[in-house]
Amino acid sequence: MTIYVYDFSEGSREMAGLLGGKGANLAEMVRMGLPVPPGFTITTDACRVFLATGAPPEELDGQIARHLAALERAAGKRLGQADDPLLLSVRSGARFSMPGMMDTILDIGLNDLAVLGLGKTPERERFAWDSYRRLVQMFGSTVMGVDSTLFEARIGSLERQHEVADDSRLDTVDLIRLVESFKDLIAEETGEEFPQDPAEQLRRAVLAVFSSWNGERARIYRRREHIPDDLGTAVSIQTMVFGNLGPDSGSGVAFTRDPATGRPGVYGDYLPNAQGEDVVAGIRNTVPLQRLADLDPGAYKELRASMDRLEGRYRDMCDIEFTVERGKLWMLQTRVGKRTAQAAFGIAAQLADEGLVSPQEALARVDGDALAHLMFPRFATSGPGVGEVVARGVPASPGAAVGAAVFDSAEAVRRAGSGERVVLVRQETTPDDLPGMIAAQAVLTARGGKTSHAAVVARGMGKVCVCGAEGITVDLARRCFTTADGVRVAEGTIVSVDGTEGVVRRGAAPLAESEVMRYFEAGGRAPGAEDQRIVHDVHRLLTLADSARRLEVRANADTPEDAARARRFGAQGIGLCRTEHMFLGERRPLVEAMILAATDAGRARALAALLPLQREDFTGILEAMDGLPVTVRLLDPPLHEFLPDRSDLAVRIAREEAVGRTPAARDRELLAAVERMHEENPMLGLRGVRLGLVVPGLVAMQVRALAEAVVARKRAGGDPRAEIMVPLVGDARELRLVREEVDAVLADVTAESGIVLDCPVGTMIELPRAALTAGRIAREARFFSFGTNDLTQTTWGFSRDDAEAAFFPAYLDRGVFERSPFETIDREGVGRLVEIAVAEGRASRPDLTIGVCGEHGGDPASVHFFHAAGLDYVSCSPFRVPVARLEAGRAALPPSSADSST
Ligand code: ADP
Ligand code: MG
Ligand code: MG
Repeated sequence: MTIYVYDFSEGSREMAGLLGGKGANLAEMVRMGLPVPPGFTITTDACRVFLATGAPPEELDGQIARHLAALERAAGKRLGQADDPLLLSVRSGARFSMPGMMDTILDIGLNDLAVLGLGKTPERERFAWDSYRRLVQMFGSTVMGVDSTLFEARIGSLERQHEVADDSRLDTVDLIRLVESFKDLIAEETGEEFPQDPAEQLRRAVLAVFSSWNGERARIYRRREHIPDDLGTAVSIQTMVFGNLGPDSGSGVAFTRDPATGRPGVYGDYLPNAQGEDVVAGIRNTVPLQRLADLDPGAYKELRASMDRLEGRYRDMCDIEFTVERGKLWMLQTRVGKRTAQAAFGIAAQLADEGLVSPQEALARVDGDALAHLMFPRFATSGPGVGEVVARGVPASPGAAVGAAVFDSAEAVRRAGSGERVVLVRQETTPDDLPGMIAAQAVLTARGGKTSHAAVVARGMGKVCVCGAEGITVDLARRCFTTADGVRVAEGTIVSVDGTEGVVRRGAAPLAESEVMRYFEAGGRAPGAEDQRIVHDVHRLLTLADSARRLEVRANADTPEDAARARRFGAQGIGLCRTEHMFLGERRPLVEAMILAATDAGRARALAALLPLQREDFTGILEAMDGLPVTVRLLDPPLHEFLPDRSDLAVRIAREEAVGRTPAARDRELLAAVERMHEENPMLGLRGVRLGLVVPGLVAMQVRALAEAVVARKRAGGDPRAEIMVPLVGDARELRLVREEVDAVLADVTAESGIVLDCPVGTMIELPRAALTAGRIAREARFFSFGTNDLTQTTWGFSRDDAEAAFFPAYLDRGVFERSPFETIDREGVGRLVEIAVAEGRASRPDLTIGVCGEHGGDPASVHFFHAAGLDYVSCSPFRVPVARLEAGRAALPPSSADSST
């Protein structure tokens, strides 16, 4: 027979999967001998049966009845008995704490008769009716589905009649009237009476908790937090204790350390003469927990002792709910407390200092997301100057930024050029918005999720971004956006973008600078006495991570500035240096000339003009990364991306013709070239290695520029370590052909300069065919670098920009994926190709170096996968380098250091 019900004394915190977090932790406290009101927990198994079949398991009623009888025996009173009845709370609790679940119901067991028994002495009368009022209200709204505002409205009007500020001033007669009024309300709204039978109250409350697993709030929360839909919730049923029995009673919450900063001490709130939910509901003003020391020294002392024991047991900061009933302390809940990013680092470092956890465990307690938070400037959390909210969206790239709202890229660039700080507001962004995004402090979009163009690019640049602010309407023509409430925000309005919370406010909210970012920008040296605590903590944990990790961390950097920053942030080289930008800007005419060249000689001339420019670029980057590998990718995008836009050209030509002038010959040539080179599917067209094989001289020019830069750096006494990476290879023969050309150029430059050049040639693995034939490709390649962005696109067969806008929301919503495969690597599919390529590549070349240079290289979960897959390094944007270092260290920890106490 399956056991669906466990007494608190039968469980432990290891059983959170079965008993839910709340039930498991209640059981743990009982095991520790802490004062916990007795009770039992119905398992998540029972909930899963209910979810699957629509009915609870047959055995459940019987098992509940047996446990209830035991509870009644121990308490010496029965549920529903007329004088001094046993009362219960019914509490939901899933494996992971989920704010979307059903609210707890207190005082189950009261009815028209029992309330008289409970309030049989005059001093308990008000308390009894207050408890009954709470039960009818909570049961009516959560179990019977009556709109909770209707109850509140009735309390409100009574309070107004009496001119009292809150419900604690209502007297017994008021409460009796309220109960009657609530019962009427329930009958009116549902056509059903409030159930008087305590057993029915209990049964219906339990089933309502089960059902709430699939409520909309819970579903939305699970999606956001990537919690699986099939876990189900447990239900804990517990003997009531009362904090609302008078001034010698009360309820409170406590943290064993400050959840905002991590500092040790006593943190919490206490509310005399109140039941638990009053404390958090914020209806009455609480007092600081320390006040309990004066109000009730005995209870306070016992609470402090319990807090110390809990922290010792959980070896982490705990969050506690308690109630004092007539001077007696009762523990009602504990869990490992949620904390800010700052506190996460602070607590981990302190626990290690105190010897409560090992350094490895301390490292397991922090994560890359928390570190990323600490690197962004933040808004001061409260105080004056915090303006009205004008947009809410997805917190896509954390941090805080203030600027004037602008509505297109050109305006952003123009204003930023004159020193103004701007926030780029767009319906959604495209690669055309790049200049504006670079110029802006922050980006706000009305559409798109965490992996939309705006989000990905902003994160890569370390820019603040709120995307998918569905409530706003962007009106480019009128140069404004309209909020959900119809308020117009015109161009030039100063707004504050909080990328950590996903909120945009009007006006300039005060900013707090990130100490941690300053630490990285200064090169991550050991902090001194003048540095803030958090810098010490971050340094300590990153040092631990660096010594634990096996993966190296490189950066994706295309300019000397980015390379230098990456180095300060701890990068051990460049894993991807894109050369596209070396073909843009003022160099466009040269690139156009190369593309348009009718003869080999003409093309050679154009390439020769580009060569010295590219050599300078490479020299700067190699200098910034002196002594560390710099992996240069040969030109990858289709060439027509470097030509003017087709319709721009056509319009220009038509306009000239319309006024009787002859259009410029070059425009005609360009248009012809654009039309000739048009591709239906550029992502799968003439790009990558294919370009090098088709456009004579293109590879040679790039390799020569790099080789000459290496020579220049060597002559200057440097230690340049250039590597050449060929993109989009699908077959070993493609790579062989390019490599032969590369080798020839390297030999030439060696002969000319007298300096021996060893630039390893490798390839990106970004097509399934490359992964599947990795053994053969490895014979031609000294290294592999997984281009997981393209590999994800080509494995799934969707193009990111199209897919994200068109159907990702539906896929995420319908559970096809829990996360976008562009955010976190798809282990099953793309990951499998990675594993095959690693195994077969190493089998044919044991010293093959293998890395990854897609967006995934800086994603925490993906870093763990790459560690497990045996890669040598990950490469990510400079701003993600510290995150990757931390996660690479965590990935290398033995499994036993992982935290099991959630
Ligand atoms: P949540 O998950 O929202 O924190 P809880 O189950 O902890 O919900 O309950 C809500 C409030 O009711 C808490 O303040 C809790 O302390 C209080 N509470 C729950 N069970 C009891 C009980 N048996 N006696 C007194 N107060 C209780
Ligand atoms: Mg609680
Ligand atoms: Mg690619």
